Amino acid sequence: MSTSPAQMSEARRYAQLRAHLSYLKLNDAFEALPRVLDQARGENLSMTAALERLLEIEVEATEARRLAARERFACLPEPWTLSDFDFSAQPGVDEKLIRDLATLRFLDDASNALFVGPPGVGKTMLSVALGRAAVDAGHRVYFTTAAELAAKCHKAALEGRWKSCMNFFAGPRLLIVDELGYLPLPEDGASALFQVINQRYLKSSTILSTNVGIADWASAFGDATVAAAMLDRLLHRATVVGIDGPSYRLRHHQSHAETLRQGVNARVS
Ligand code: ADP
Ligand code: MG
Repeated sequence: MSTSPAQMSEARRYAQLRAHLSYLKLNDAFEALPRVLDQARGENLSMTAALERLLEIEVEATEARRLAARERFACLPEPWTLSDFDFSAQPGVDEKLIRDLATLRFLDDASNALFVGPPGVGKTMLSVALGRAAVDAGHRVYFTTAAELAAKCHKAALEGRWKSCMNFFAGPRLLIVDELGYLPLPEDGASALFQVINQRYLKSSTILSTNVGIADWASAFGDATVAAAMLDRLLHRATVVGIDGPSYRLRHHQSHAETLRQGVNARVS
């Protein structure tokens, strides 16, 4: 059977179109092309509708890839979201304040958030939930503990990579530094953290969680001047959330202990 010139050029055009999509690395559109062309024919789609359907497939796949890459980069330790946080278990936490933080408005003016409180009250959970919201909204987020940050900077200094390490910590739109004060920071750790905070100051937001009350920072970080300078940058534009309620982690132990105690009391009386 012979092919007419019109059919020939149509076949060539189709091959060209596939080649263009492949050259532009629009792989999902490339894969979907035959299906979308069939749909266009079958549903009598307009040219605009068919093109829109094809590109929508590529856009959705790109969004999913970018989200996955942001998630991998962020290193959030848990899949927590704000809906996992039980506000009634921690009545000291101002729900409105947290919901306002979750709008991510604070990223726009590069302000910070500080969670201060004893272990188990949900500081990490709230930081992670805000981090997750920022990742979902398309922002670059990075989660680390203060000890990890100090160790990374220390290693980078030894290996002559100080500048690139500082650039790394300057990069994310939101940096989360967890567990400041849980472990004593070595001297160069406190100064590395200060430099990280200082270079982010007024440029991008940091969430920091600590068990050390702000009044005790000077003694906790050894160097009162570094502590004061760090607090100065952090608090200039910041939401401070003090959580002093009971440990959520221990509440079952506590209620268990309470039951045991009541049991003993009941037997005694
Ligand atoms: P912190 O960082 O203050 O030590 P975490 O955020 O790690 O505390 O919380 C400790 C544990 O308790 C986690 O498993 C967390 O999911 C849970 N938790 C803490 N507060 C709440 C809360 N208000 N609602 C639900 N789970 C909570
Ligand atoms: Mg924690």
